[in-house]
Amino acid sequence: MIIATNWKAYVESKEKAKKLFALAKRLASHSTHEFIISPPMPFLGFLADKNHSKVSFMAQDISSTVGGAKTGEITSAVAREAGATYALIGHSERRAIGEDNTLITQKLQHALAQGLKPILCIGERERDVDGEYLAFLREEIASVYATLSQKERLQIIIAYEPIWAIGKTSTESITVTDLTEMILYIRKVLSDFLSGRGASCTPVLYGGSVDTDNARALAEGSGIDGFLIGRAGVELDSFSELVRAL
Ligand code: PEP
Repeated sequence: MIIATNWKAYVESKEKAKKLFALAKRLASHSTHEFIISPPMPFLGFLADKNHSKVSFMAQDISSTVGGAKTGEITSAVAREAGATYALIGHSERRAIGEDNTLITQKLQHALAQGLKPILCIGERERDVDGEYLAFLREEIASVYATLSQKERLQIIIAYEPIWAIGKTSTESITVTDLTEMILYIRKVLSDFLSGRGASCTPVLYGGSVDTDNARALAEGSGIDGFLIGRAGVELDSFSELVRAL
């Protein structure tokens, strides 16, 4: 499985960043899971510089621009140069501050152009009885995939993160049954854009209040390929317990 942690701005000291990285390396060395961590970019730079482990690095976001007179932007080229191999794109916290599908598509294209593997976040804000959230999710996928070649589409990892399930407790998170249905639905939408086994081979992660209590059941029952983990991935105890639970 892929175990990707989203450090967000939870980690603000070098010391803590080093400890979390050391833990990820230790866990990865005893595991068949693939570990991806996403320190804030300055920390990513110095940790990745000395990285000879199986742990990979992910930029939490990248710019929608390329280099030049763009004060404050972290371009895909910079993220790549700093040591990232993955880029998280379209996280709900970025969408909440105005990023739309057009901007997200631009970011994705820049990531791909620099050889970064994009992890595209999708997820409905809430569920309605008429099932309109399904059309919303389809649009989040379609608006991006429609602009890309088959080769580019095959590079994308999807992170399904229903916004209503983020930042809650494991009991308020998604059920195995609902997640199983959603993974089937997402793969069905993907099959409209990917030929052959493309849709079934696209890794689909789940994120939203995953912790020690629900990780195993979600991993075993739903057809996901891994997790995108927020809070439980930024404390040493909760992260090692969660990985142990898997
Ligand atoms: C997230 O925001 O991507 C996330 C999964 O957060 P949490 O695990 O804290 O719900």
